[in-house]
Amino acid sequence: MARDFNRRSSAGFLSIKMGVKSSPLPLRRYSERQLETHIECPNCTLKYAVYGVFAFCPDCRQHNSLYMLGKNLDVVGKMLDMAASADVEIAGKLVENALEDCVAAFDAFGRELCRVNANKASLPAKADKISFQNLEGAKRNVDDLFGFDISAGLTKDEWQSVVRSLQKRHLFVHRMGVVDEEYVKKTGDAQAVVGHKISLTGHEVGSAVQIVRKLAQYIAEKLAALPEDGTR
Ligand SMILES: [Zn+2]
Repeated sequence: MARDFNRRSSAGFLSIKMGVKSSPLPLRRYSERQLETHIECPNCTLKYAVYGVFAFCPDCRQHNSLYMLGKNLDVVGKMLDMAASADVEIAGKLVENALEDCVAAFDAFGRELCRVNANKASLPAKADKISFQNLEGAKRNVDDLFGFDISAGLTKDEWQSVVRSLQKRHLFVHRMGVVDEEYVKKTGDAQAVVGHKISLTGHEVGSAVQIVRKLAQYIAEKLAALPEDGTR
């Protein structure tokens, strides 16, 4: 592969030296395409491109945060499919990464949605500061600022399950997957033993993805239904 790359770069170098003026142009176009996010509005089917990720549809003004979350979670699903046929070590890492990506996508979604709805918050300046990596914290903060309970969009079992999955992500990111007191306290996970490595299966991350989709839909609907001026 390295040899192919060298051959390509020397060919590219030669063509520039020979004065083919158009050769840098495709490179620039290529990098521009990489910076754009291509979106098909789920509401009005308009196809548009944005620099960055989040935007309002130029036609119907629907925000794309839920759409982008869905796209990111689709990729997480593909990572889990890959994990199912990979060898044990790679599979474990893919499942951990899938969980991290699921949480990162949900966090970005939640922050963006709170930011664009800041005018509906009791304290607009605090609206885009809510972290969605820790669900109990997000539940408290959304309740304080927007006046509704995000956990009401899920069954009790779904809520406990997704809280546990997000706390597992915290263990993998900060403690190499080793259970600490905080994890046991926050999740009540009866299987977990402090000092032992936590278990994480592809099936569990797959469930977390489904619950996150449902929770996100609920949050988006509740925020959309709030009055504009923060009076409730
Ligand atoms: Zn649209």
